[in-house]
Amino acid sequence: MSQDARSPLDSPPLDRRIATGLHKLGLALKHQTWSQASAHGLSPTQGQILALLAAEGALRASEVAERLGIGLPTISEAVTTLADKGLVRRTPDRRHPRARLLRLTAAGTRLSGQARAWPEFLTQAVGTLTDAEQATLLTALVKMIRTLQEQGQIPISRMCATCTHFRPHVHDGDRPHHCAFVDAPMGAPHLRLDCDDHEPAPADQQRTAWARFANTA
Ligand code: SF4
Repeated sequence: MSQDARSPLDSPPLDRRIATGLHKLGLALKHQTWSQASAHGLSPTQGQILALLAAEGALRASEVAERLGIGLPTISEAVTTLADKGLVRRTPDRRHPRARLLRLTAAGTRLSGQARAWPEFLTQAVGTLTDAEQATLLTALVKMIRTLQEQGQIPISRMCATCTHFRPHVHDGDRPHHCAFVDAPMGAPHLRLDCDDHEPAPADQQRTAWARFANTA
């Protein structure tokens, strides 16, 4: 068989098979979230809110909605339930006098210790990949997430590709990118998908940086 001849093994196409694999991972994550949350008498959204507040500290409801990619009315409803359960409390926000911050109570902090571990099963699976496989996967995820964000399918996240400090492909070697915030070269394994120091770049800068990153990465 010539190399150009199509084999039965080429069907379905590779992109379709990868999408199927990602779908299976999504189902596993959803199942895990549902079973862990319901074991604690929470909805998946309530569990996600606890995990987020545990990871990032106090946030406004609008910030929670933005980070989780869930509508504000759904977040407000879930927060009301969490407050009724004594897991979350609302406190004044010194940055915005008319806004309120959501904070975990002591009971919420205890429960979130378990909620925080919910995605751990994925981390363990990723840990079975080699360093090179993990770096390639991370680059591929950055590209896919960026594409889905541009299509409006998922919320904008605080990742290098949209950050004003990101300088793609400005160095030789295995750390070709540069983070101007920490003033250090970075390689594929260092790319961030949710960075506390992220500052959104102007649209022009994002487009230029993305073209340089995506066409060379
Ligand atoms: S500040 Fe964070 S998001 Fe921005 S380039 Fe540096 S590591 Fe990436």
